[in-house]
Amino acid sequence: MTASRISVPPTAGLPLRWSDLRPWGDAHLDRALAGWLGVDELLLECSGTSALMLALRTLQQLAPERCEVVVPAYTCPLVAMAVAQCGLQPRLCDLSPDRLDMDGQALDAVLSHRTLAVVPTHLGGRVADVASLLPRAQACGAYVIEDAAQALGARVQGRSVGLQGDIALFSLAVGKGLTTYEGGVLLARDPALMAALRAQHKASIRPQLAWELRRSLELLGYAAAFRPALLDGVYGAPLRRSLARGDWVKAAGDDFDSRIPQHSLGAWRRRVGLRALARLRTHWEQAQQQAQRRVAQLRALPGVEVLDDAAPQAQGIWPVILLRLPSAAQRDALLHAHWASGWGLSLPFSQVLPDYARYAPVLGEALYDPVPQARDWSQRLLAVSNSAWLSDALFAQLLDALRQTRPPSAAG
Ligand SMILES: *Cc1c(COP(=O)(O)O)cnc(C)c1O
Repeated sequence: MTASRISVPPTAGLPLRWSDLRPWGDAHLDRALAGWLGVDELLLECSGTSALMLALRTLQQLAPERCEVVVPAYTCPLVAMAVAQCGLQPRLCDLSPDRLDMDGQALDAVLSHRTLAVVPTHLGGRVADVASLLPRAQACGAYVIEDAAQALGARVQGRSVGLQGDIALFSLAVGKGLTTYEGGVLLARDPALMAALRAQHKASIRPQLAWELRRSLELLGYAAAFRPALLDGVYGAPLRRSLARGDWVKAAGDDFDSRIPQHSLGAWRRRVGLRALARLRTHWEQAQQQAQRRVAQLRALPGVEVLDDAAPQAQGIWPVILLRLPSAAQRDALLHAHWASGWGLSLPFSQVLPDYARYAPVLGEALYDPVPQARDWSQRLLAVSNSAWLSDALFAQLLDALRQTRPPSAAG
C-alpha cells in the first residue's frame, strides 16, 4: 500500500473560518436554514440520528399499532440503531440493481400493516426517487421519512429534497457539508405534523451541559484542524492505523457508540453554523463545477459507472462522486492499494447492515431480510472525495489507477 501524507478529506465538508467562531451574534440558525431551504419552519437537533428518533417517536404516537420501520439495507448503521432505540423493529429493503435506491418490488415485499415508516435515503448527495416510492408506502398506510443526512442543499422539482415525503432529516455532522460538529435538522411538509414534531421536541429534548461542552470543544478542534496541512494528523494517521489492522468498518467510520445522545443544540454552535451557512450555496456551486468536470473524465473510463441522481428533475449536491466498479475484486484491489494514497477515496459504508457483526442485536429478525442487490452495491461502490483540496494532479493519479484496474482474471 502507498503511504502518503493525506491532505484531502473524504468529503467536501464546508471549512470554517476563525470569524465563524465569535461567541456573540445571531443564534437563529433554525430561521436562517428554513429560509435557505425554502420552508416555513424546522427544528434543530443534536444529530441527524436524534432527529430521526424524534420523528419516529412522534409517528409512534400517531400510529401506535405499527411497529416496523423499513430502511435501505445499505445505509448508515445509526439509522437502524435509532429505530431499535425507539423500541421499533427495523426491516431491510433491498436496493434496485441499477440505481442506489430501494427497489420497488422489494419494498412491496417488506411493507405490511405493521409498517410505521419507510426511510428512502439521498446517499452521497444523490437524489433518490422518492416520488416513485410514495404510492407504495401510502397504499399500506406507512409514513415516509426522507433521510437527507447527506443531502443538505440537494433539490428536486425546484424545491429542497425532503418535501416529497412526510418528514425529512438532515445531518450537520462533520463531513456532511455544513457542520456544528454534530447536529441535525428535522422538518415536515404538513403544518400539523410539524406541530407534532415540535411538541415532541419540547416534551423530550433538554440542554445537556456536558455534551454541549464536549461538542463545542470538538467543533473548535475541527475548525483548527480541518486544513490540508493538519489533516494527516487527525484523519490520515487514524485511517492508516485502521487499515493496518484490516479494520474497514473503522476505516469507513462505521463504528458507532451504542447509546445515542439526545439534547438540544447550543447557542454558540448555532451561531457558528449560521455564519458558515452564508457560504454554503457558493460552496456547493463550486463543488458542482468541479464534479461536472471530473464526472466527465470518470465516465470516459471503461467499466467505471458514475452515479447520477435517481430522481427526475433533480439537482443533487456533490460532497463525493460515487462510482460503481465492475467487480468487488477490482474495488477491493484499488482500496488495498490506494485508500491511504491521499486521493480522497472512501466507502459510504463498509457493508450492508446485516453483515456488521456488531449491529446484529440492533437488527433482530431483520438479519434475515434478503438483501442480495444491496450487498452487491456495497462491494462495488467507491466514493471519491469532491473536496477542492483534491488537486487536478492527484485526481489524474486516481484516473490512471482506475484505468489500470482490471479484473484479476484479465490481469495476467
Ligand atoms: C450520517 C448519517 C445519518 C446520521 O446523521 P448524524 O447526524 O451523524 O447522526 C443518517 N443517515 C445517513 C444516510 C447518514 O449518512
